[in-house]
Amino acid sequence: MATNQTILGGGITVDLGAITRNWKALDKVSGGALTAAVVKADAYGLGLEAVSRTLYKAGARFFFVATPDEGVALRAALPRAHIFVLDGLVPRTAADYSAHNLMPVLASMGQLTEWLDFCLNRSQAAPAALHFDTGFNRVGFRLKEAELVKREIEQTRFEPQMIMSHFACADQPSHEMTRKQNGLFQGILNLFPDTPASLANSAGLMASKDYHYHMVRPGIAVFGGRAVNGRANPMAPVIRMEVPILQIKEARIGETVGYGALHRLVRNTRLAIIAIGYADGFTRALSGIGGQMGGKVAINGALAPVLGRVSMDMTAVDITDVPGFIQPGDLVEILGSTIGIDDVADASRTISYEVLTSLNGRFPRRYENVPDGISVE
Ligand SMILES: *Cc1c(COP(=O)(O)O)cnc(C)c1O
Repeated sequence: MATNQTILGGGITVDLGAITRNWKALDKVSGGALTAAVVKADAYGLGLEAVSRTLYKAGARFFFVATPDEGVALRAALPRAHIFVLDGLVPRTAADYSAHNLMPVLASMGQLTEWLDFCLNRSQAAPAALHFDTGFNRVGFRLKEAELVKREIEQTRFEPQMIMSHFACADQPSHEMTRKQNGLFQGILNLFPDTPASLANSAGLMASKDYHYHMVRPGIAVFGGRAVNGRANPMAPVIRMEVPILQIKEARIGETVGYGALHRLVRNTRLAIIAIGYADGFTRALSGIGGQMGGKVAINGALAPVLGRVSMDMTAVDITDVPGFIQPGDLVEILGSTIGIDDVADASRTISYEVLTSLNGRFPRRYENVPDGISVE
């Protein structure tokens, strides 16, 4: 993604000051527990390097990425951070993890054996964490493997850095699964009484102190997204996005708008054609067809609904009721003070995580409130 201004205008602005405030607020909530930062998927699409340097400056020392390649990129940005790789150990790459001082979050007997063999061969214990599956059925040791894991690491005198698990339903505060997973996690910890533990994502961190253990692992809340459903989101918004109007036209009642001619106008309508489409992460789920609610953009603080199908590069919005003089070249808000990432997520029937990680189209990304001493180029 380019970081310079384009001829077209518009773009994405990431507020690094808001990221700092959010992380510090979460660090306060987590009390005595260490507050890590999850920066997988290019820091949720906001830019790994600038975001992780900002978080390090704010005080974060423990980082989680998904893939070893993300780990290598993060290592280049943060030479002294502790970096965990959530995908675990990718087969036959142990030496690469070690060369970049990355810690795999080991999740299967095969991974554990390969890592322990690697350590034995070089007569040095390279640090790693262990992930137990407490009901998610994603990566992680099965609970019944816990005794075997314990025996293996005792035999080789390996000391894991951390025991981990991950919540499936922490975003739904009353879901019984969360307490059940916590109970199973405690059962595992009884086998490893001297090893630090980590269970909570953003939602778990916000739900209860009971889930904090030694380290919490927030991602989405650091980036301003709603972690817990059905509650006001206390985090500061981090991202703004604006795109220009290309053309304004007066369309008549009975005409249709867009591909498929699916939306028929029920009144004479002033349309603004804006320079964004599904190739920019403005998903087709935001299309406005018939009475069906689609997405909205904001112009001069007023909402303008999407009409017709979102196409690859352009979208029509209804500006009939938007006050003020509007002309081509004016910028419309896709995300900002009127429309948040959770609003777009709700309108497109997804979650803010996917909204953020999808905004990887043509628009330049700029940073504001850049902490002193941090380069974001
Ligand atoms: C992505 C992820 C997190 C962060 O989750 P958020 O809901 O974004 O806070 C924490 N732990 C694991 C294992 C993850 O995969």
